[in-house]
Amino acid sequence: MSASLKSEIRHDWTAEEVRHLLELPFNDLLFQAQAVHRAHFNPNEVQVSTLLSIKTGACPEDCKYCPQSGHYNTGLEKEKLLEIEKVVGEARQARESGATRFCMGAAWRNPNAKNMPYVLEMVKQVKDLGLETCMTLGMLTADQAEALAGAGLDYYNHNLDTSENFYGQIITTRTYADRLETLQNVRDAGMKVCCGGILGMGESELDRAELLCQLANLPEHPESIPINMLVRVEGTPLENEEELEPFEFIRMIAVARIMMPRSHVRLSAGRENMNEQMQALCFFAGANSIFYGEKLLTTPNPETNRDMRLFAKLGIRPEQRQQCQDEDLQEQALLQAVEVKRREAEMFYDAADER
Ligand code: SF4
Repeated sequence: MSASLKSEIRHDWTAEEVRHLLELPFNDLLFQAQAVHRAHFNPNEVQVSTLLSIKTGACPEDCKYCPQSGHYNTGLEKEKLLEIEKVVGEARQARESGATRFCMGAAWRNPNAKNMPYVLEMVKQVKDLGLETCMTLGMLTADQAEALAGAGLDYYNHNLDTSENFYGQIITTRTYADRLETLQNVRDAGMKVCCGGILGMGESELDRAELLCQLANLPEHPESIPINMLVRVEGTPLENEEELEPFEFIRMIAVARIMMPRSHVRLSAGRENMNEQMQALCFFAGANSIFYGEKLLTTPNPETNRDMRLFAKLGIRPEQRQQCQDEDLQEQALLQAVEVKRREAEMFYDAADER
């Protein structure tokens, strides 16, 4: 691999350049993305996180894609903030099934003064299990970001969702500038940033290019970049949105990989609607992180054993975090799961599961 591919970390992308990449012949684009990927990551490893909704529904924001918004009637069962013991129990279980990062999401505009002490305690206790911690709680003030970092929060998720131009058609209750401010507060507090977007909401290719520019031109690239495919939930304003062409989605993964070569690109919501071949192409294009578990906040996620079976078919290993206290235990649990699935795949032909 050339040294230039490895060292090129840029923050001065233009939408024109990005569109040029998005429109490359598919094979050229994927070849380039895979070359960049190999210069920075083991191509046969995928980072695995588990996500838990710690407070569900009744969100005052009006994000048009979201079943948790109180503005839409999606039949979602609302839940108050979960008790700390319950969250820690779920985190322990996630660790035992091999997750290295535990992400906790609350459907809030922002955490309030009453909730903050609970949330901080959750972070401390989950961190004590030896897991990396991530939260998504809405907008954060500088003080809240400091407090979360002080409690041991490693990552904060706050998505830009789409381009600045298209944003107003998706969310009206907070601005793009609000989002950028939260991201800055998270960075200033010393936490890692998880920030990406959602594709297939009716945006143009230019909007997608501009989203990638926004992400790559931040002073530091987000360490984690979730690329979501819209899940068209009944009752939300986007329930009848036209489906995005899968190759457009794969192209976005590849271009994100090229533009932000050291970041983990996460195949996120919408994965349950992707067949194995599409997921494999996404991994080839540079996706190297997934959520693992039965639910992705409130939309279904492929069953964990299906993930393990796919990993076994592709020879992919779950990536281990660097200074994990229970590294051996976690690695063993996941490797065993992959091995069992590999043997099962050899022994059975499951016609019902062909997708
Ligand atoms: S995406 Fe987040 S902020 Fe927007 S409605 Fe859903 S839970 Fe609320």
